[in-house]
Amino acid sequence: MAAKTLEDWQKMRDGLSYRNQAFIDGKYVDAASGKTFDCTSPIDGRLLAKVAECDKEDVDRAVKAARKAFEAGKWSEASPAKRKAVMLKLAQLVRENSDELALLETLDMGKPVMMAKNVDMNGVANNFQWYGEAIDKMYDEIAPTDRSGLGLITREPMGVVGAVVPWNFPLMMAAWKLAPMLATGNSVVLKPAEQSPLTAIRLAELAMEAGIPEGVLNVLPGFGETAGQALGMHMDVDGISFTGSTEVGKYFLKYSGLSNMKAIALECGGKTPNIVMKDAPNLEAAAREAGSAIFFNSGQVCLASSRLLVEQDIKDEFLEKVKEVGQFMQPGDPLDPKTMMGTMVDNTQTKRVLGYIEAGQKEGAKLVLGGKQVRQNTGGEYIEPTIFDNVKNSMKIAQEEIFGPVLSTLTFKDAEEAIQIANDSVYGLYANLWTNDLTKAHKMARKIRAGTVNINNTNGGGLVMPFGGYKQSGLGRDGSLHAMEKFTQMKATYIHLG
Ligand code: NDP
Repeated sequence: MAAKTLEDWQKMRDGLSYRNQAFIDGKYVDAASGKTFDCTSPIDGRLLAKVAECDKEDVDRAVKAARKAFEAGKWSEASPAKRKAVMLKLAQLVRENSDELALLETLDMGKPVMMAKNVDMNGVANNFQWYGEAIDKMYDEIAPTDRSGLGLITREPMGVVGAVVPWNFPLMMAAWKLAPMLATGNSVVLKPAEQSPLTAIRLAELAMEAGIPEGVLNVLPGFGETAGQALGMHMDVDGISFTGSTEVGKYFLKYSGLSNMKAIALECGGKTPNIVMKDAPNLEAAAREAGSAIFFNSGQVCLASSRLLVEQDIKDEFLEKVKEVGQFMQPGDPLDPKTMMGTMVDNTQTKRVLGYIEAGQKEGAKLVLGGKQVRQNTGGEYIEPTIFDNVKNSMKIAQEEIFGPVLSTLTFKDAEEAIQIANDSVYGLYANLWTNDLTKAHKMARKIRAGTVNINNTNGGGLVMPFGGYKQSGLGRDGSLHAMEKFTQMKATYIHLG
């Protein structure tokens, strides 16, 4: 089938219908209060849907349904092979509906539709497939006790778990949480971000069609301060996995302490140092990735390579090449398949990012590319790829997560200084290092305080690798088989044999 054109996507958009209710106990329902909030598109400001605004009462309803389903055991006690079959079916349904899901994502948060399809929806389907396939290959352990006993160490589903997710990769972040949660037999309550609820709501229907029993997956659109907090404080929720800001991540630790000590897993963003040594194997490739790794998704990425650290002798030459990437990745209509960069998620984020650009200039960094809001005549939220040179690591733009297409360039004289700058951050999620010297690479990687260190790339190896942060980037890991650990309890059963 021929790839869709801009006109095809526009036509599809004009015929699209939007699910806009909460999904509780296998049914679409209004919020108990009857309240709704406006879900608008950052592409042109149009109203997409009025979405159910869930609050504490709805959280109670969803948690009760989830607990009932968990106790009934239709999912929590189903054989791994049965859960696998359902999850593979869900992966297939996501693939079959990927155009619609990608379009919903694009309209809701403004990323280019081809990226929504090829990166996000492909990633969502792969997540359900990968964890589905894994679950019937996981073995438990027998402890090395003496011969008078038998010690079994088994993993059990945690129970009712919550997922609170952000708007930058709305359905993909949800899938990162849901796939290991469901694979291990939990019942789940998902709260999408207020900016991007549409794909999560639609996913619930696909999950039912795949065979996830009623009550096992509940979706509650609503606001963080009400629905998110109520989930965090709920006495019958056993664990929560959150991705978002460090500030809100800390609230979840507090909610846990003030309620029932529920397990908390956090992924709270970063300030990735991208360290380029002059002996990098291919400076052209390093520059291409330095650009795309900050401008991809308009920089609204927790692992965005937002601090470019270049060995001082090659900085000018290298920066020229990175600028070319920025010049090429100018924002355009997200429905146009040729567009590389879309919008910011909303006007609040646009103002936030422009505020950082202003702060960078005030603090004395040199603006060498972009810096402005563009395409304002469309009613959309576009910011140009922006590059600062002469940045000091103490500056606000080098310390705080901007979450926009803004690159800060710094220099260093040797490996020791590069590591010192890289580690001088409250974050420790991700780091990239470009060098041809394997010994140097290993030595530096050991000293960098980050959950992931990439050598000669910026992409981290995908789903098979654990992903999460040191320091204030979070607790626990998404991705890989290790993600399953967060959503299971470890049980020791000791049998006296005499
Ligand atoms: P938040 O951390 O506020 O939002 C993430 C999720 O948490 C959303 O579902 C949100 O709901 C929910 N939430 C918000 N406040 C509370 C609360 N008090 N209790 C419980 N849940 C809550 O991120 P923002 O959308 O405000 O973005 C601000 C900044 O956070 C970004 O600029 C970026 O720096 C960082 N961020 C990092 C992300 C990452 O991938 N690590 C992802 C998103 C943001 P609601 O949407 O209704 O507010």
